[in-house]
Amino acid sequence: MSKTWITVLGATGSIGVSTLDVIARHSEQYAVYALTGFSRMAELQAQCLEHRPIFAVVAEEQQAKSLQQALRAAGCTTEVLWGSNALAQVAEDPQVDAVMAAIVGAAGLAPTLAAVQAGKRVLLANKEALVMSGALFMQAVRHSGAVLLPIDSEHNAIFQCMPANYAAGLGQVGVRRILLTASGGPFRDMCAQDLKNVTPQQACAHPNWSMGQKISVDSASMMNKGLELIEACWLFDARPEQIEVVVHPQSVVHSLVDYVDGSVIAQLGNPDMRTPIAHALAWPERIDSGVNALDLLAIGRLDFRAPDRELFPCLELARQAAEAGGTACAQLNAANEVAVEAFLAGRIGFTDIPVIIEATLNRMAPEPVQDLNHIMAADALAREHAHRWLANRH
Ligand code: NAD
Ligand code: MG
Repeated sequence: MSKTWITVLGATGSIGVSTLDVIARHSEQYAVYALTGFSRMAELQAQCLEHRPIFAVVAEEQQAKSLQQALRAAGCTTEVLWGSNALAQVAEDPQVDAVMAAIVGAAGLAPTLAAVQAGKRVLLANKEALVMSGALFMQAVRHSGAVLLPIDSEHNAIFQCMPANYAAGLGQVGVRRILLTASGGPFRDMCAQDLKNVTPQQACAHPNWSMGQKISVDSASMMNKGLELIEACWLFDARPEQIEVVVHPQSVVHSLVDYVDGSVIAQLGNPDMRTPIAHALAWPERIDSGVNALDLLAIGRLDFRAPDRELFPCLELARQAAEAGGTACAQLNAANEVAVEAFLAGRIGFTDIPVIIEATLNRMAPEPVQDLNHIMAADALAREHAHRWLANRH
């Protein structure tokens, strides 16, 4: 059997590292075509030495020169490229079979779309790309015949609980609703007063998952669940009202599908991203992910409750953007990226995050999407409004 060639976009991040962990367990099956990283050059260098990709891609020329030198000195033949064109190039090259899209935020959109347009098997972790450009993205999937496999644990769970022919339409295949589970994040039991004073460090300390900073803050504000609601609408051709968010603090049930006959099918597992990664790598086969077997007796109980909409307004803002459609989700995503960055930099408080997003959305009417440039323009304008809000504040 010939090996599957994989490009890992965002190899140095949390998902990237987990992906390489699964790949290393199956080196007879998978070969690494390219690894990309934006910072953490020492980690990228170590990954190149271990996985020997044909290409590594970094952000800037200077980084590329130093990494190239270090790799040569270590006898590694990996060629180092830099810049956004190189990211797209290693995503769409004919030699590549599968692309793990694990760059965080809007920066991941162009290379992820390049992989989709080239008809690759696309393992989608970068939810922001789909949130921004849903209609175009899904159109490109249909057009190129790309195989889109969700990595987000909830969407991977939903995918596993759906019938094989779900693309025919949820009504056609007897699906009534999707139940999207949320851990509720580190502040799920906090009162409104205490939430005002939480620090970036507290926000990044997720009770169940170990993840990058941006998604950790999104989980704490529940914007992550809002982005996931939009993501689920696109992946499963669902309307926002067909998706119900359920807080489940143990993060063992990763999501559920409710059928018209009253059956509810769930996917369970330990909270470890190597499970959805291994699932998507091998689908429709199964491979070992390195994740321990689920011990239900040790877990003992599974709890479910409704999300607190007042404490976490981001969830409702995302639902409204999903209902508005057009450029609204790109605007929401852009304003959120600016707000999260400002929070992480200590410039604003945690409860300012939804305030900035709402103020930005109120200043921009959503428009029907024309093309990618139109989305990028909406993204840029939303960032401008959000930055202006920040500037006026100080
Ligand atoms: P991370 O911050 O740990 O890693 C991000 C990666 O993207 C790094 O390799 C970084 O070098 C690269 N990157 C950052 N900015 C870049 C830029 N401007 N250009 C090119 N590369 C850039 O993030 P993560 O937690 O691994 O998350 C990655 C994506 O996966 C996010 O979209 C996140 O929402 C999604 N996701 C993550 C998890 C998780 O458990 N970590 C779960 C579900 C979905
Ligand atoms: Mg998730």
